[in-house]
Amino acid sequence: MSWTNWRKKLSLRTKKEVPDGLFLTCEGCQKMIYKKHKEEGMEVCPECDYHFYLPIQKRLEMLLDPGSFEERFADIGPTDPLRFVDREPYETRLKKVQAQTGTKDAILVGIGSIQGRKAALGLMDFRFMGGSMGSVVGEKITRITECALERLMPLVILSASGGARMQEGALSLMQMAKTSCALARLSEAGILYVSVLTNPTTAGVLASFAGLGDIIIAEPKALIGFTGPRVIKETIKQDLPPGFQRSEFLLEHGLIDMIVHRRDLRERLGQVLQFCPERPASPGREEDPSGRHEALPLWQRAGETAHASATVPPQVVK
Ligand SMILES: [Zn+2]
Repeated sequence: MSWTNWRKKLSLRTKKEVPDGLFLTCEGCQKMIYKKHKEEGMEVCPECDYHFYLPIQKRLEMLLDPGSFEERFADIGPTDPLRFVDREPYETRLKKVQAQTGTKDAILVGIGSIQGRKAALGLMDFRFMGGSMGSVVGEKITRITECALERLMPLVILSASGGARMQEGALSLMQMAKTSCALARLSEAGILYVSVLTNPTTAGVLASFAGLGDIIIAEPKALIGFTGPRVIKETIKQDLPPGFQRSEFLLEHGLIDMIVHRRDLRERLGQVLQFCPERPASPGREEDPSGRHEALPLWQRAGETAHASATVPPQVVK
């Protein structure tokens, strides 16, 4: 049999035995891995523990006590105040991504229980324009932080972001100050904030709320940094050490407190939250299912919080 015939035979056999989409190349170890094994293992590479993107609904199921999640501030959606146009208008881009992802913007916030302990939660969605922080992400982070402050419950935010949303210009950058101010008030009230950095957490998000956790947890091998290595190298005129923007390097150098595998995250968060004693809400204050109370500015609600420092009128950046 000629080589051409052999080749045809072999290629046919290969196609038959390996249907499309069964295998993929791992971004961490570059090995071919069986897609089903990755999916069964919480989207983690079975060869090297590289953590792939995990859809937000799967994260909720993985982290929270079943049926405990109540979404908050779901009605907040993006606008296009700058009428920004790059390759296409921002408004068109938003509509497309919203249709693809089924969400209004790059974050989901709410209240849920982790191993029996209630917490205010924020989960960023990298699928939505690279998890970029625009006005909606900033506003929802701020409001869920205020919700944690008001209800005296710990705050947990899982970040996944490429940074600020350039289509919102300075309005996007201002969210860094706004979220940081809200977290400062939470800190003054002595309420625990746990920041979980997933792959990737970079730029304006890392430089604001994601970097401000009382405890900072990262997933293994996650890309964490402010800006790309080329810019840093040109600025400091030095070669960069290998792996300098990965979780393991940052743990060694003190930026993060612990690296936790995805399969252990629920248990570890549960342990951390147990360290933070339950604090009863102020007497006379009831849960407000309508959310009307939450819609008031913080300084109008501050008298109801347990800590006097929260009564300082905040300089909120709108
Ligand atoms: Zn791998």
